[in-house]
Amino acid sequence: MKISGMTLHSIAIADPPLRSSYGLHAPWALRTIVELETDSGIRGVSETYGGQGPRAALEAMRDRLLGMDPFRLAGLFQDMDREAAASGGDRSQTWLVPGENPLDQTNRTFAAIEIACLDIIGKAVGRPVCDVIGGRVRDRVSFSAYLFYKHAGGGGGDYPDEYGEVLTPEAVVRECHHMIGKYGFQEIKLKAGVLEPEIEIESIRALRREFGSEIPLRIDPNCAWSVDTSLLVGEALAEELSGGGYLEDPCPELKGMAEVRRRLLKRGIETPLASNVAVTSFPEVPRAKALDAVQIVLSDPHYWGGLRQVQLLSHLCSVLGMGLSMHSNSHLGISMMAMTHVAAACPNLTFACDTHYPWQTERDEVVEGGRIQFDKGSVRIPDRPGLGVALDYDQLARGRERYEKVPFRKRDDEAEMRKHVDPNWRRVLPRW
Ligand SMILES: [Mg+2]
Repeated sequence: MKISGMTLHSIAIADPPLRSSYGLHAPWALRTIVELETDSGIRGVSETYGGQGPRAALEAMRDRLLGMDPFRLAGLFQDMDREAAASGGDRSQTWLVPGENPLDQTNRTFAAIEIACLDIIGKAVGRPVCDVIGGRVRDRVSFSAYLFYKHAGGGGGDYPDEYGEVLTPEAVVRECHHMIGKYGFQEIKLKAGVLEPEIEIESIRALRREFGSEIPLRIDPNCAWSVDTSLLVGEALAEELSGGGYLEDPCPELKGMAEVRRRLLKRGIETPLASNVAVTSFPEVPRAKALDAVQIVLSDPHYWGGLRQVQLLSHLCSVLGMGLSMHSNSHLGISMMAMTHVAAACPNLTFACDTHYPWQTERDEVVEGGRIQFDKGSVRIPDRPGLGVALDYDQLARGRERYEKVPFRKRDDEAEMRKHVDPNWRRVLPRW
């Protein structure tokens, strides 16, 4: 079997005005849907970062892919990885949005190709992707309620706003009730680094009071806090973040995280620290372990280099005695299924994965049959070959039309913040 064609669909999907330490989400998020065709008539799909850069990187692979056997993925990875290594550079760039580090571009490009090839392979052998990559250890994968502080609005100009403005602890509880009521999530994550730390501490406490200690809680300020503030929050939330929760990227860099960990332990607080900012590539994992800076690594097939690389990360974490969770960006159903398949085939992925999926809508979904369904906060591996999804070409065309109308080609949360919230805003780390 040979790859005989590649089609790239640049689309835009509505995104509500969510806040983080990076700034403000624009009304539209950009995605690229990749479609690979083979000479045997089987097509594979994947979903990755949107806009000009990711598309150009995939376009540059076209000649190499045409004629390639989709089963020969390790060789392609080796070639691309060697080329990336030869260009050199330091991967630890705390200031970049995860998924935007230019040095991980190769991993992102490979991942988009690999996932589409695995979809093809699954369809060729008649098995779901998770079974092709070694076999599932679970039939359903848990996701967490991913809460954000947000301004009023549903994004996309006129999309309905399910959640309203969320800028107080009470509103966070309301948002969480709505999300859990709709999807049944059994773990909660709050994106923080937006309001004064006291308000964010109170938000977590309010969630604890409301949902009880059986629901693990995690908080992620995306490096917005100094070591001292991280310590203060870690102490204040010692009980709330225990029992399966974690403190994610409280401050910048491994050195800072290690200091927070050391000082928390000195006070008898064992809250694990998680990261998808200080650790985004393999060389950083043993470094993080040696410093005891990170106890839980957040994987993400989109920028770690695909499903197989996430499995390797899973194994590495297991060998090093570290935990594994999963990061997400704004995404649709194809990414949802790629994340689900790989999470099902990673034995030590024991935390509920992040997902932005509740923030996207039926109106923008590009998979046939509409939105992926959750059952008690988890997604079941479908009994269909490959990723188990097919493209809805009408919906895809609408996504492309929206993309043409969007005035930007790259995510810029800082610019959005200046445009809508504070004309002088810029990202400062640490802010508190
Ligand atoms: Mg994070």
